[in-house]
Amino acid sequence: MKRDGSMETPLIDARDQLAEVLDRYWGYSQFKPLQLEAMQCGITHTDSVVVLPTGGGKSLCFQAPAMCLDGVALVISPLISLMKDQVDSLRECGVPAAYVNSTLSLAQKKEVADQLRQGRVRLLYIAPERLMVDRTLAFLRTLNVSLIAIDEAHCISAWGHDFRPEYRELRILREHFPGVGIHAYTATATPQVRQDIAAQLGVEQPRYVVGSFERRNLIYKLMRRDQGLRQIRDVLDRHRDESGIVFCITRKEVETTTAALVEAGYKALPYHAGMDDAQRQQNQEAFMQEKVDTIVATIAFGMGIDKPNVRYVVHAGMPKSLENYQQESGRAGRDGLEAECVLIYSSQDFLTWQRIIEAAEVIPTGALEALQAMWQFCTSVVCRHRSLLEHFGQSLERSSCDACDVCLGELDLVEDPLTIGQKIASCVLRLNEQYGGDYTAKVLIGSGEAQISGRGHDRLSTFGILKSESKRTVRDWIEQLVGQEFLVKDGEYNVLKLTPVGRRLLKGEAVPQLLRPAKSTRSRRAAPVADSWEGVDRGLFEELRTLRRAEATLRNLPPYMIFDDATLRDMARRRPTTSAAFHEVRGVGEKKLRDFGDEFVELIRDYCERHTLPTDMAVD
Ligand code: ADP
Repeated sequence: MKRDGSMETPLIDARDQLAEVLDRYWGYSQFKPLQLEAMQCGITHTDSVVVLPTGGGKSLCFQAPAMCLDGVALVISPLISLMKDQVDSLRECGVPAAYVNSTLSLAQKKEVADQLRQGRVRLLYIAPERLMVDRTLAFLRTLNVSLIAIDEAHCISAWGHDFRPEYRELRILREHFPGVGIHAYTATATPQVRQDIAAQLGVEQPRYVVGSFERRNLIYKLMRRDQGLRQIRDVLDRHRDESGIVFCITRKEVETTTAALVEAGYKALPYHAGMDDAQRQQNQEAFMQEKVDTIVATIAFGMGIDKPNVRYVVHAGMPKSLENYQQESGRAGRDGLEAECVLIYSSQDFLTWQRIIEAAEVIPTGALEALQAMWQFCTSVVCRHRSLLEHFGQSLERSSCDACDVCLGELDLVEDPLTIGQKIASCVLRLNEQYGGDYTAKVLIGSGEAQISGRGHDRLSTFGILKSESKRTVRDWIEQLVGQEFLVKDGEYNVLKLTPVGRRLLKGEAVPQLLRPAKSTRSRRAAPVADSWEGVDRGLFEELRTLRRAEATLRNLPPYMIFDDATLRDMARRRPTTSAAFHEVRGVGEKKLRDFGDEFVELIRDYCERHTLPTDMAVD
């Protein structure tokens, strides 16, 4: 075996072999971006660090090579709760996989060991702490190990957001398995983490396979919190009967939001670290099995979630950093189909996080800067995809993403932001920089409240200079000016003060961008939405979904493990009535064709007859 990780090494072309495996087991006819390159590293024992976004198809980057090579691939993962799911999914595709972790009984572990000895396992999932036991290592060394995959590899880096000290021990893998390729996979984008992963694993000169972080199928929408539950319900109403997550900042908010949603007739369950384990587990399972549509959670709900068809993620409060936002919103649309990410923020969230961060004995490095970046993201009016990509050091190659509130024209830019900005800034000065946003807004709209006339502020030249606007709009603009650093909030009472840029605004030397919420009728349809439903018969899709749920219940598996949503849409688009045509559907491999082909084809035939629909459509 040769192991040479230098960048110059030409990779042998194993495309055909990999494509064959991809089609046979997973029913996929194309590689996702950079998958082929990452897979070829696996096949050629070329050490690699693979950085692809969530939903980028990292698992197949080691699973497909494992099915091309002899022996067993070791998959090291910290996500014990996901192992069973991953292994069940693989078995449904006909891939012989197994796992060992602390949830197995002694007898079950023995059984796995027997299967390994007999060469009947091609992928073995194992937790790092289990792997590091001497006996385990000694046993694994007696096997023919084809490759070593390290999932969630950022856990090895102290720079990553989820450092796990036990991952550091993985360094010894190189000594124990000389000549076996080591491959690390992560969705964490920073170059520092990337380099650190390789260094910590003792892997010299790996091939770095780094993809774009743009999640084109995610539609980002941001809005200031003003109607509480109504804003959340609007999202849920757009996604009736679909799966989604609502993230709240506190446990209490999780409880109250869930109760309010259930009261209003939604199928929602709570999830947070304060609940007892069994209840939490049960709620998670109900969500995975699609017995409930919405899970309302703190960020404790996350690492264990691999549900591919999450169609919306709502943040009922602002996260504390863009890194967190990317992770959490990234749980939407793993299957590549469109999904909506709605962030409902308020300046209150900023203050809550600020208080939490500043209350710590030692303020974590960069935490306040990260919070500020998050706030700027909320209050700016730059394409959301572009802002996120730039934050992670990449750029958007197109002029518009067609998938965010800014690019879809859902936000109206005000025509004369300079004048409005100047009016607000000068009102802040007239109030001697001693009042907060709410009070300032009231003065600007000329409120008749007694506290204003009582202080004589109704005689200020700036009193009522924005009287044609609502208080909410003016309040919004003030927040935008804070986010764009024209104003700062100061001290315990968050009084508004001008920054140096704010002073330049007064002189007309710096211009803010201000927006007002537009009437939603103006919004264009997001580009990816149109594409993925093209040619799909929605009625048939719904019937296929019902059949999928019945099959899943029968086997006690989550429905997406039978077929994911993209596969059902492809079925409802192609409408195959023969076994051969059914095999052409994306996501139908040989085993699934055998297991489910007859039943699904029968339903399709029957539906198309009832609705006189053409069948066996050609799709490129
Ligand atoms: P990641 O681990 O990078 O978040 P996954 O490995 O979970 O991503 O893959 C995301 C989804 O994409 C899964 O539903 C997977 O089956 C699907 N997928 C992966 N590779 C392909 C492919 N080549 N063609 C179609 N779908 C794919």
